[in-house]
Amino acid sequence: MASLSDAVSQLAGVGPKRVQALQSLGIENMNDLLTYFPFRYEDLQAKDPAELTDQAKVTLKGTVAGAPVLTRFGRKKNRLNFRLLVDEHTAMPVTFFNQPWLKDQLEVGNEIVVYGRFDAKRQSLAGMKILASADSGMGSIYPANKEIRQGTVKKLVAEAYEQYASVIVDLIPETLREHYRLLHRREMIHDMHFPADETAAQAARRTAKFEEFYLFELRLQIVKLQDHTLHGQPLAYDLSKLKAFIASLPYELTAAQKRVVNEICFDLKRPIHMNRLLQGDVGSGKTVVAAIAMYAAITAGAQAALMAPTEILAEQHANNLAKLFADFPVNVALLTGATKAAARKTLLPQIAQGGVDLLIGTHALIQPEVTYHQLGLAVIDEQHRFGVNQRQALREKGQQPDVLAMTATPIPRTLAITAYGEMDVSVINELPAGRQPIKTTWIRSNQVDATLRQVKAELSTGSQAYVVTPLIEESEAVDMKNAEAIYERFKTEFEPTYKVGLLHGRMKDDEKNAIMAAFKANEFQVLVATTVIEVGVDVPNATLMMIYDADHFGLAQLHQLRGRVGRGTRASACILIADPKNQLAIERMTTMTSTNDGFVLSQKDLELRGPGDILGRKQSGVPDFKVGDPVADLNILSAAQQAAKETVAAPNWAEKDANLALAAFLSTTAHQTTTMD
Ligand code: ADP
Ligand code: MG
Repeated sequence: MASLSDAVSQLAGVGPKRVQALQSLGIENMNDLLTYFPFRYEDLQAKDPAELTDQAKVTLKGTVAGAPVLTRFGRKKNRLNFRLLVDEHTAMPVTFFNQPWLKDQLEVGNEIVVYGRFDAKRQSLAGMKILASADSGMGSIYPANKEIRQGTVKKLVAEAYEQYASVIVDLIPETLREHYRLLHRREMIHDMHFPADETAAQAARRTAKFEEFYLFELRLQIVKLQDHTLHGQPLAYDLSKLKAFIASLPYELTAAQKRVVNEICFDLKRPIHMNRLLQGDVGSGKTVVAAIAMYAAITAGAQAALMAPTEILAEQHANNLAKLFADFPVNVALLTGATKAAARKTLLPQIAQGGVDLLIGTHALIQPEVTYHQLGLAVIDEQHRFGVNQRQALREKGQQPDVLAMTATPIPRTLAITAYGEMDVSVINELPAGRQPIKTTWIRSNQVDATLRQVKAELSTGSQAYVVTPLIEESEAVDMKNAEAIYERFKTEFEPTYKVGLLHGRMKDDEKNAIMAAFKANEFQVLVATTVIEVGVDVPNATLMMIYDADHFGLAQLHQLRGRVGRGTRASACILIADPKNQLAIERMTTMTSTNDGFVLSQKDLELRGPGDILGRKQSGVPDFKVGDPVADLNILSAAQQAAKETVAAPNWAEKDANLALAAFLSTTAHQTTTMD
């Protein structure tokens, strides 16, 4: 029986070569071909000549008014002229170049449809095609490539539809289809390829987008469902111990921190595999939330691990956590690439035998020789700094620990749904009380001299300052040169009253550590640095941040950098130096000065620069959708996510009559990759 999973080679005229060409477009079976949609349509509706605009491509219906005249010029060139009576008053001159054979179709008195480009000055039409009247309507234009012409694709789609329309069944369950007022699948596929008019094309497109998002979300929800049902180890933590720990903190948790602690703890004690993303703006207090969660795991008799992207950060965490747990029976250890061989040798068996309760480190934590006694919870700080493989490796340590991934980059809804759709999300949406907002200003580079006075005034109060140097993409060497030049300049300007330090990506890790530690100890007051400080240590005494060439950074990144200050109780300032060349860049600078809200900024970033800046450069983690655009079509995406959640929420959903076609489709079609980055 015919099925949409039939290979395209089933179609007449599709031999090995065409199979290969179609493959290059991602088309292997009939379903692929039938969902290979046109990217635009030519409007072939006959137009009223009074409405024509200059150079518009139009379709005109009329009667051939006089015998066509063929004129040859040059060696192979010729032109065919005739008049087309489009209404009683207008006989429009039409010219076809180099298509002499059309002459036979142009008998005086015949009604024809001509497609061409209108010239308003001459009130004439440069003809391109003569259409059989059956052809008029909307002409589908397909994306194609060197190996296959778009006309061929079009022909094959039409053939596939002809032969397979009868086996196109609805995938979206009827109740959902009615609720969201969607077309039947067959109707949608028909109208995507052969719409009668623009309205039909739009309606089909809406359904096609919904279907695409819905199928994608279903696959994510199925993964999530497996996490929740297959490999959970419940962590029976000791609530009274946890409360004692929280009471020992030097501050009261914010309402948002309490809420996310509850969300996490609820997951920990359930027999599910937690896979949760904790979002909170810089300074919102994620570390203490992680500490509470890790302590919960430890009171349940398990181990906890915290993985940070840099050694500096791992050390800072180790120091802070050792202090927090000073009065509690928690053995804290640090393992990084810098850990000496001898220390490592004693540490590894302790980890394996359970002598270490809380292990903090860099990606050293996921090396194969590190085995855990019983890892119950793995926390990943600044998770977007890690590749998906590293996160996966931590997840697979021991008996599949619960995972808490933390990020300071607020993730717009679109990305939360697509790139992190299979994770549960907790959000800390408030800062601890008493924080001073950071005042951000934007200056041009010719105003820097004047601003240095402001910097001096700030330093004279005992504060410290960061100076971030220009970012030249793809070249650390150039970044370093820029940093060194600015470093020299600041030295001349400020020393010996204030000391200036330099930090850049080319330095060795211990060198970087030493400089950060010295800055923290206020051994120098100005730190000139490349973006290596983006994820850095806490220096509450730093209250000023200057960023050169600020227009070269993404908004989310600027916000992250700005978050290095404003960590103490004193008011902080951020000065952006930029000479933006275009309106878009100007808009980005003014957005930075007008809001401190990370969510607003990353949404704006997403709209202006796409997902790459927010989720890391290499791969954004947002799959390539064919019809839907997750940013522009966020409403449809959200609806589809909601629908997918409802679908899989029903027990044994895949065995219900209404879902049989859908379940069969999901199991026979190739699993789309839904990697996170
Ligand atoms: P981030 O979310 O950026 O990782 P941190 O966890 O480093 O933030 O917290 C920033 C600072 O805020 C730390 O110095 C921490 O001790 C402090 N902090 C965290 N929670 C609170 C709170 N509820 N009240 C006051 N200060 C807090
Ligand atoms: Mg942090």
